[in-house]
Amino acid sequence: MVSIKLMGEDEKFIEVEVSGLPLAVMNAIRRFAINEVPTMAVEEILIIENSSSMPNDVLAHRISLIPFISDIDNYVAPEECTCGSKLGCEKCALRFILRAEAKDEPVIVYSGDMIPEDQNTKVRPVSPKIPIIKLARGQRIEMELYVRVGRGKKHAKWQAAIASLYEPKEGGGDKRILYVESIGSLPPRRILVEAAKILEKKAIKFEEKFREELDKTSKN
Ligand SMILES: [Zn+2]
Repeated sequence: MVSIKLMGEDEKFIEVEVSGLPLAVMNAIRRFAINEVPTMAVEEILIIENSSSMPNDVLAHRISLIPFISDIDNYVAPEECTCGSKLGCEKCALRFILRAEAKDEPVIVYSGDMIPEDQNTKVRPVSPKIPIIKLARGQRIEMELYVRVGRGKKHAKWQAAIASLYEPKEGGGDKRILYVESIGSLPPRRILVEAAKILEKKAIKFEEKFREELDKTSKN
């Protein structure tokens, strides 16, 4: 029988002791927490103006690595959206505007300067204090940022967590401890639940495939 004991938790991490699950399954959940639980990040950047000394691609790369507090209940990945639009719709893309100018003195532009078009969204950078660029006098940037749902296996910027699996000091039986530390996009508890859901989805898909194959052979 599977048993799960909560060993520790705060807003950054969760640690559970699990027994009764095969190691391979535990490992799969650990990997899903890292690579497959969806989060949100800047996927596309439209630079309207950049008179800073930072090249467009370097600036875009810096912005794309900023983790976002993610709303995976209200947004879906573009490839799972029904809109079929390249630009996306309100379910699969969230637009932010980043506009800054250094007039009389140098200005540091922070993650908190990215303003969402939808004022009611929960989605925002995990911290407003992440420095993006320093503008010298007279320099100006203006861009549109498209935040979308993605997964760590597609690009590390969507990685939900770091996670590890180890045996408790006072071992015995098949007990293992799963430690999950959130990057900040989702609460640690939610990451574990999502990882378990992904396991379930994959099991269902496997069952469907398996049945399909068996059906084929029975017809021949
Ligand atoms: Zn869409």
